[in-house]
Amino acid sequence: MIDIHCHILPGVDDGPESIEASLMMAREAVKEGIKTIIATPHHRNNSYENKKSEILAEVSKLNSILLKENIPLEILPGQENRIYGEIIKDYKNGEILTLSNTNYLFIEFPSSTVPRYSERLLYEIQIEGLTPVIVHPERNKELLENPNLLYSLVNNGALTQVTAGSIAGYFGKKIQRFSKQLIEHNLTHFVASDAHNTNNRSFKLIEAFEEIEKDFGGDYSYLFTENSELLLGNKTIFRQLPEQIKKKKFLGIF
Ligand code: FE
Repeated sequence: MIDIHCHILPGVDDGPESIEASLMMAREAVKEGIKTIIATPHHRNNSYENKKSEILAEVSKLNSILLKENIPLEILPGQENRIYGEIIKDYKNGEILTLSNTNYLFIEFPSSTVPRYSERLLYEIQIEGLTPVIVHPERNKELLENPNLLYSLVNNGALTQVTAGSIAGYFGKKIQRFSKQLIEHNLTHFVASDAHNTNNRSFKLIEAFEEIEKDFGGDYSYLFTENSELLLGNKTIFRQLPEQIKKKKFLGIF
């Protein structure tokens, strides 16, 4: 299994603080059946800055330690970019990393809003030949209230990634329900851990896929795992026509 969103590099963001903590995460990932992780440190999220060159150096350091420790896990470079106006300019300057040097680029919105310029910027990113992947839309307050904003972004070419823990219920019932609605309406394309540690923010991929199989069947879990593989190969991923989420009226019990 491939995990395309994970904070496993030590001392770069709110992920593990030490190499020992990174190795604990690595061992847990292996137990979950993960063979490859894209390390995606926060960038420009108001707390952390991790430029491309620094991430590349940290990834190769961690890979050599994993090899020494005999942990069968490969780390690839990525970046979780908070959306900002100059992102394309900085991509051209060499500060921004796509996911493992593919054409797929992670984009994070602030936790409660979707900046008004997002629609235009996500379009401009695609003009550059990149495919934006919006991370954890299910945890964004504005999207929860107005899911059709996400529909519009996906309909205009953006992809999205939901967090395994959200599907498994670790962020509460409301976010779990919304995550499942996103799956049901073809508004998400990847499931990843966004793991930060082995305590309260661990991988939960197995639990998430069990939940997906229970509610949607094996085809869906296959589709999501396959999409992560396709992304890593810089291939076109599976996507079905997105549908709008209609607010259901409460009909009561008859
Ligand atoms: Fe993250």
